Amino acid sequence: MVAEILDELSGAVEPGITTKELNELALDACKKRKAVAAFKGYSGFPFAICSSPNEVIVHGFATDKPLVEGDILSIDFGVLYDGFYGDSAVTVPVGDVSKDRDRLMRVTKESLFAGINAVAPGAHLSDISNAVQCVAEDAGYTVVRDFVGHGIGRALHEDPQVPNYGKPGYGPILKTGMVLAIEPMVNAGSPQVKVLDDGWTAVTKDGCCSAHFEHTVAVTENGFEILTSL
Ligand code: MG
Ligand code: MG
Repeated sequence: MVAEILDELSGAVEPGITTKELNELALDACKKRKAVAAFKGYSGFPFAICSSPNEVIVHGFATDKPLVEGDILSIDFGVLYDGFYGDSAVTVPVGDVSKDRDRLMRVTKESLFAGINAVAPGAHLSDISNAVQCVAEDAGYTVVRDFVGHGIGRALHEDPQVPNYGKPGYGPILKTGMVLAIEPMVNAGSPQVKVLDDGWTAVTKDGCCSAHFEHTVAVTENGFEILTSL
């Protein structure tokens, strides 16, 4: 459901649409499936999606401001269904975007998949963190430290935290059946974060662009299974 709905939302992104409209689409899509929008009301968060354009890293509010050609938009979305949560995020271009922004999105997605590829029974948690960090930093970007991935299951955020940085070989050993939300937030400039007065919207301190990709991933006997892909 998370994959289907995020795909629908991504397809709707074009110059002129507002993030309020995308939020309505997400709510309708949940209703149709009798699923609960996991973020709406979570610690008081007012929307079904976190919509985070350009320099907004995560937790952006939906607004009436139309997206414009050249923006990039991160959409983070989760549902609760039958007692379990799913959580995923993508960053998509609004129309044609600059080469720099396109590269930031591509590298962030690659860093997510590097992290996912480190998932296997017997691996250490920080093997994921290190894989993400290496891809992002080798490309000249920085990873956000203030927000991290997480375990997920009957609660949206469970232990362990999954940082996007660190040396390999540390932290809990992964076991079959564990489920993690891996979610690199990669900045074009410095990794520093500022939270706006609304108490949620996290932006880059230097105003540079940021991208975010996330999948919910299960540890399986043979490695991993991505639970939020189509
Ligand atoms: Mg998320
Ligand atoms: Mg998450």
